[in-house]
Amino acid sequence: MVSASKHPNITLFTYSDIIGFSGIPGNYNVKICKNPRYIDEKKCTGCGLCTTKCPITVPNEFNRCIGERNAIYIPFSQAVPKIALIEKSICIECKNCQKICPAEAIDFEQVSEYVDLKVGAVIIATGWDEYPIMKNNEYKYGIYPDVITQIELERILSPVGPTGGHLYRISDGKPPKTLAMIQCVGSRSLKGNPYCSGVCCNVALKNAQLLKQEYPDMDIAIFYIDMRTWDKGNEEYYRKAREAGIMMIRGKVGDIRVDPDTLKIKVTADSTLTNDFITMNTDLVVLSTGMVPSKNTAQIVETLGLSKDINGFLTEVHGCLKPQETNNFGIYICGCAAGPKNIPYSVSTALAAASKVSTLLSKDTITQELIIAEVNETLCIGCHRCEKLCNYKAIKVNGENIAEVDDLKCKGCGVCVSSCPARAIDLKYYRDKQIIEEIKGICSTELEYKEEYIESIELIWKKIEALAPHQT
Ligand code: SF4
Ligand code: SF4
Ligand code: SF4
Repeated sequence: MVSASKHPNITLFTYSDIIGFSGIPGNYNVKICKNPRYIDEKKCTGCGLCTTKCPITVPNEFNRCIGERNAIYIPFSQAVPKIALIEKSICIECKNCQKICPAEAIDFEQVSEYVDLKVGAVIIATGWDEYPIMKNNEYKYGIYPDVITQIELERILSPVGPTGGHLYRISDGKPPKTLAMIQCVGSRSLKGNPYCSGVCCNVALKNAQLLKQEYPDMDIAIFYIDMRTWDKGNEEYYRKAREAGIMMIRGKVGDIRVDPDTLKIKVTADSTLTNDFITMNTDLVVLSTGMVPSKNTAQIVETLGLSKDINGFLTEVHGCLKPQETNNFGIYICGCAAGPKNIPYSVSTALAAASKVSTLLSKDTITQELIIAEVNETLCIGCHRCEKLCNYKAIKVNGENIAEVDDLKCKGCGVCVSSCPARAIDLKYYRDKQIIEEIKGICSTELEYKEEYIESIELIWKKIEALAPHQT
């Protein structure tokens, strides 16, 4: 992040939104809204003094609401750029921060700034969000304080996290002696998401091993459906975790309860290996919650005219052959924008997307197939059917109620041609008339079946005449 921020050819727009997008591959116009931080970015040194005097505190979302932050805050200690910002909706304008700031960087009059950029290509790397477990109220999360998620555990274990890297129970502040991890929370389930989030098994193994190193006497059990350690070296990592004494219990956990006297959490699972119920009384439960598309993905899809899959992730043209390309030539995707991925896989897709962009931008011209749709303006009735059906968002009905094809976006798939009720669209080089002539040509040379062919062709011809007399 620091290298990117210092690179002479990279401009970072943080705390900003893309609000407009138009143009063609090689020449896109992007409209960016820079939201006001109420801090002069050029003056702020990131010293953090302002945060020490702010009287307003709210839960710290970066630490998953364990601990607090102020109305003026630096989002996290390694933030790039390391600049404060004020959450105006909770600020009481006491001006304490302004009085103490040595750089005179606080600017309460700051307003949104709009920037117009010209770019040749776009890479979307909108990442992921954690499965919204509160919504489904699974495993008493949000009810029992000692039921936490893997991300919360990561923040607790971080040396710069809310507890300085020490593990305590949130209910009584005591270090736990037993810990149970539950896999596939919100993944591979009909209640949550049907897909596997791909990383949670390894995250659980990693955190369990870190805990075992730090607290060798702690009893740790991982309840899983299947342990999916699919990437290079991960099966070995799994074996290491078992050798370190971490218990692996293959079974789906049912309901969990708290004993009000001991504050222990009773976890019961149906073991699929022993065909038995297994019960564990534990001090802390850690839920391995899955991945969902980041909250801004839907807005990016809308602004850039892309398509998303049933789970809300962006769709690639072809999962195996064109995994970085979207239906919009010139717009590429990488990382978890297109679905759950681990870090090495995300890095590979980022490199692949960057290579696609450099291939596109290193040429002065773009080669385009000539087999594309064309609209007969006199026949179009402006019904919008083609616009709704085109997978590449290449056809739009204009202000005069006539469909227009974007030659650079059209892939010549022919969906609009076959759906147009007015038969106002044709595919260049595959016009109905051309096809009919080709068939006639074939029939005239196939003497043996000539009569039969001619009968069929006459039938087709009559149908076309009935449907669209103008094309005959
Ligand atoms: Fe320091 Fe001022 Fe920036 Fe706050 S706004 S971090 S006090 S320079
Ligand atoms: Fe906090 Fe607002 Fe007061 Fe600054 S002016 S110290 S941000 S409440
Ligand atoms: Fe025009 Fe046909 Fe498209 Fe309808 S489907 S808008 S008639 S070209």
